Amino acid sequence: MSWLHRAACRDVDPEIFFPIATPDTEAGEAAVAQAKQVCGGCSVRSRCLDKAIESREPYGVWGGESESTRSKLLSGARGRTS
Ligand code: SF4
Repeated sequence: MSWLHRAACRDVDPEIFFPIATPDTEAGEAAVAQAKQVCGGCSVRSRCLDKAIESREPYGVWGGESESTRSKLLSGARGRTS
């Protein structure tokens, strides 16, 4: 995956993409927002999101989206194909 070499998160602490704070709490939302801020400036964001959805990454922020948003995107995709 050569696009990873262009990832904005290459030199960022990976822990911000996998927050330990409980989702849907103020701390959890703050942690996700911090990761999303990095993703917002990433030139390979759409590829990252596609890969995360394709491989059904269960945890963390990928492509600027949290696991709950990716789950909703997957559900929507399933709904359109059935
Ligand atoms: S979109 Fe976010 S998680 Fe994906 S490569 Fe870019 S900075 Fe990293």
